[in-house]
Amino acid sequence: MNTLESIKPKAQHSVFDLAEEAGFDVSDWIASSNDTRGHKANPKYCYEWSFIEPGRLIILNLWHAAMREEDGRITTTGNFRKDADYYRTVVRKAQWAERAQKLDEALQVALKDNLPVRVIMLDGKQRDKNDPDRKPSKVAKRELDSEPWTITAYDWETGQCELARGVFTQQCVDQFDLDQVDKASPKRTEATSQPFVRDPAVRRNVLRRSKGHCELCGQRGFLMVNGALYLETHHVIPLSEGGPDTEHNVVALCADDHRRAHYASDRDGIAANLKSVVNERL
Ligand SMILES: [Zn+2]
Repeated sequence: MNTLESIKPKAQHSVFDLAEEAGFDVSDWIASSNDTRGHKANPKYCYEWSFIEPGRLIILNLWHAAMREEDGRITTTGNFRKDADYYRTVVRKAQWAERAQKLDEALQVALKDNLPVRVIMLDGKQRDKNDPDRKPSKVAKRELDSEPWTITAYDWETGQCELARGVFTQQCVDQFDLDQVDKASPKRTEATSQPFVRDPAVRRNVLRRSKGHCELCGQRGFLMVNGALYLETHHVIPLSEGGPDTEHNVVALCADDHRRAHYASDRDGIAANLKSVVNERL
């Protein structure tokens, strides 16, 4: 595992080279260039703080100095929407405001479309946000972080966000993830009577299909302290009764509905409902 210190950028590469390295489609960067210094200096791109390639990835320029390391987890928090407002109203730099605004929008696109987040690490002299001075930041070192990042928290109301280094596909987690996370908890009694192997890929795909909402009542799973949404995966026809471990037989339910699906007097009706929900979704 890399430490924060070890990922500090050591070289000064061009944004163009780093965007290309991240897999960004740079063809328009070249095609729309009319800068005498060549396409790498194309002002349409090279001063931007973020890049969005719809359906594929986003790239963010982030300051290494603003990152934190705690328990081996490297994170950065910020509020680019608030920054944009500050640049617009206090610093009166429309261009900075626009770039900060775009960065906030890039986060939203990545969240909505579940896109990979790549980070260009910056080191140098960062402008002091609290000083309404017009001096721009000076980037001395710039490198693409080899690891993708994850938006671990985003407040759609305010724009406050947290990003963490690494890929966390578990933006939606179920009860089996909890068992792995919470190793200190006493062994559940059912654990010994669970001879059935569940395919993690099936659970993962079902959680993704649910988009974080219970597939019975439609309510969003509850938000966990780490920013993930909690739902439980459930086999409509139990494995013990020969139900297949496939996406056609697995649903994501809120904790309440999961218990209901097992124990409620109308559980047969619930099972029938769930079957039709799955059929509609697949
Ligand atoms: Zn529910």
